[in-house]
Amino acid sequence: MTDEFTTDIYYDDDADVSTLDDDTVAVLGYGSQGHAHALNLHESGVDVVVGLRENSSSRSAAEADGLTVTTPADAVSQASYVSVLVPDTVQPAVYENAIEPNLEAGDTLQFAHGLNIHYNQIQPPEGVDVTMVAPKSPGHLVRRNYENDEGTPGLLAIYQNESGDAPERALAYAKGIGCTRAGVIETTFREEVESDLFGEQAVLCGGVTSLVKHGYETLVDAGYSPEIAYFECLNELKLIVDLMYEGGHAEMWDSVSDTAEYGGLSRGDRIVDETVRENMEETLEEIQNGEFTREWILENQSGRPSYTQLRQAEKNHEIEEVGERLRDLFAWAEESSENESAEAA
Ligand code: NAD
Ligand code: MG
Ligand code: MG
Ligand code: MG
Ligand code: MG
Repeated sequence: MTDEFTTDIYYDDDADVSTLDDDTVAVLGYGSQGHAHALNLHESGVDVVVGLRENSSSRSAAEADGLTVTTPADAVSQASYVSVLVPDTVQPAVYENAIEPNLEAGDTLQFAHGLNIHYNQIQPPEGVDVTMVAPKSPGHLVRRNYENDEGTPGLLAIYQNESGDAPERALAYAKGIGCTRAGVIETTFREEVESDLFGEQAVLCGGVTSLVKHGYETLVDAGYSPEIAYFECLNELKLIVDLMYEGGHAEMWDSVSDTAEYGGLSRGDRIVDETVRENMEETLEEIQNGEFTREWILENQSGRPSYTQLRQAEKNHEIEEVGERLRDLFAWAEESSENESAEAA
């Protein structure tokens, strides 16, 4: 029942791939998302041409997968539906050099993330539809799910609807890559971009690694062994998150001991307290007012000096070395038990 939600959700019955029967779809880029979109669309009966640079190492992969490959500029001029799946940081240059000169009125410009449109790094001309179909999953899963007759949840947004058909066309694309099998939620470019940046900075990537490091350091600095600290603060996190993924917080609290439940419920808000909440609000503000994106664009223009330094510091953290050692031991344990069962079978 979709009307229980605050947004509309679209499924296979709401979309028709044959809407794109008269289109050629140019898929620019053959990385994580690109290969999945190109292959899924192709197998859904859509006419696909992959656009890659002459010297791109992905060319042979796309050709071996049975797809037609040409340059990005040529792909755009052949196509009426252009799916931009090169990295976000190179999209403005690819747009300027290969897309814009070859776009025609009536074409659709399709994205899997709204960053460059929302922050005006790409300003499409009038007469062109601008849409987003963004699978909420890494590309290899978009592909694997499709092959297994399963779907990948996705987001859909319309930025420019000059033809009047942008929603139907975007839904056809979403169906072609398998997203409507699982469900597609309607959003806006602004909501998708700002919530995506916030989620990865505050919770998923930034917040969680920082929480893990602080926990690990607190134990190790107090004299506990690094191995114990690693298991307690990093390794077990997956088991906890799996329970939350399956059944929300309730399933996790049900599965842990009463001692863990009481300790967590009574101490959690002391650890992640009001100051963390204020920091989150500040982080969200920097996303909303464009400060983060400006910083990221300048960082790329100057050769990524801070990014390189931050990456190096993260790599050098003790937890990474301890983890590598322990994961090797456990990979060995898993492998040997797999071998045993293989031999027994
Ligand atoms: P990627 O880094 O995996 O792949 C990039 C592809 O672009 C490669 O094939 C590369 O050869 C090609 N490329 C790089 N520079 C190029 C250039 N100058 N000209 C032409 N081709 C070039 O990229 P990705 O992670 O699939 O991201 C593509 C889009 O999908 C981005 O907008 C991203 O935000 C979005 N997205 C990604 C994911 C994900 O899980 N990776 C999830 C949702 C949305
Ligand atoms: Mg064209
Ligand atoms: Mg993101
Ligand atoms: Mg425990
Ligand atoms: Mg319990």
